Amino acid sequence: MSEISKQDIQTLVKLQEAESEIVRLTKVLDKVEKEKQKIGLQIKAFETALEKNKQELLASENGCRGIEAEIQLIDDRIIKSNEKLRMVKTNKEYQLLLREVDDNKKRKDMLETELIESMEQKEKLALLVEERETEFQLLNDKIKAEQSEIDKKTSDDKELLNEYLEQQAEIGKNLSPSLMTRFAKISKMNNGLAVTTVKNEVCMGCFMNIPPQMYIDVQRGKSLISCPQCSRILYFENS
Ligand SMILES: [Zn+2]
Repeated sequence: MSEISKQDIQTLVKLQEAESEIVRLTKVLDKVEKEKQKIGLQIKAFETALEKNKQELLASENGCRGIEAEIQLIDDRIIKSNEKLRMVKTNKEYQLLLREVDDNKKRKDMLETELIESMEQKEKLALLVEERETEFQLLNDKIKAEQSEIDKKTSDDKELLNEYLEQQAEIGKNLSPSLMTRFAKISKMNNGLAVTTVKNEVCMGCFMNIPPQMYIDVQRGKSLISCPQCSRILYFENS
């Protein structure tokens, strides 16, 4: 039980007042920051999905181009076969070329059907990407607006937090470093409440009884007394 002046106790009480505000504001700001991050993740997920759709569209476009190129190739082959047909001398050759032309035409029919399906798919994807892009823009604008609204609302709290931090540092200059360290340690252990009153032999920090003699000592206010249960620094408030 170290000796302490009434002045020190008053300073500790003021330090606690600032500490309570700091803890409160930090909690508010942390919560807001988490909310902001959550909103940010939403847009990120949307963006990733949109990117995937764009890749699918690109693949679909390439697929269509591939089929078109193959059809072109077959067309060329059919033209060549037809040219050859005019020059053949034997019936066997003629039949062979005719079958070749026929096979190529069948292949071309198949590819054309495939192309129609692929193009339909491509159109669908293009439409989807367009819709999603518009949605994304809207969502992005909305989220940016929400986030800046949050920033605006919290700027007062941030300012206030800085004021309390400065105030606390200023108050702390009147206390010995060891007392400051002790305060910080107890505050950390007790969710930001390091200094508390005692009423009718009850610690108002943890609501446990303290021994009668300790209560008398706290009332005298000449020594630094910590609650035996929660370690908070105790003081008596005349009311
Ligand atoms: Zn206590």
